[in-house]
Amino acid sequence: MGNHIVFIILLGIFFLILFFRKSIVATVRGKEGELNVNLRLQLLPSEEYKVINNLLISIQGHTSQIDHVVMSEYGIFVIETKNYKGWIYGSANSEYWTQNIYGNKYQLYNPIKQNQGHIRALSRILPNLRPNLFVSIVAFSRQATLKNEYLDNVIYWSQINRVIRSYSQKLMSVEQVQNAYNTLLEANIKSRETRKQHVQNVQGEIYRNYKSVNNGYCPHCGGKLVLRSGQYGQFYGCSNYPRCRYTHTT
Ligand SMILES: [Zn+2]
Repeated sequence: MGNHIVFIILLGIFFLILFFRKSIVATVRGKEGELNVNLRLQLLPSEEYKVINNLLISIQGHTSQIDHVVMSEYGIFVIETKNYKGWIYGSANSEYWTQNIYGNKYQLYNPIKQNQGHIRALSRILPNLRPNLFVSIVAFSRQATLKNEYLDNVIYWSQINRVIRSYSQKLMSVEQVQNAYNTLLEANIKSRETRKQHVQNVQGEIYRNYKSVNNGYCPHCGGKLVLRSGQYGQFYGCSNYPRCRYTHTT
């Protein structure tokens, strides 16, 4: 008799777990997503990986803000982090990506291109390093669902360390890594005034681009935007193509 009761209780617990399993997993995933990238990068062995967060550098009066740079013998990882909600899609070459929140679409500048700009800025400061030593990583929080076709190193925050550690070929000496680290620490702008100015410049640029596209004009050259059909559906392209390759998805 007692055995029966124990069995029924165990069976009950089993079905409860089965029933709630999905939401338990979802909760754990959500918590994991909240662990920010700074903390994750601290989990990399510090003798092998040198990290600089929120780097601001200036190249000929133009400032560039880079979320994270991880320097190691395996390469220089340049990380752009995004904390967008909703569905995110875009291709490697389009100018803008789309964020879709419950059917409302917003544009974001293609983060792969954005990060390529960061790498160009970094290689100006570290001219002795070959361009192929720089590895671009674009990482979204779990708030977003990546809906694009598979794109190299466009990942979730939780995958950052795994991706970094998947690079196992030694390409630089310990001394080169240390020199790069010292140079970037030196170049990092700490002035609060300059940092504030940078944020204002970026916001101004986003607004001007947005306004231009909204009015039907190319934000790069001022040409008229025309609707075209491509392999992946309709998009707006600049009427000055091929001189100007600006596109944005509808
Ligand atoms: Zn144009």
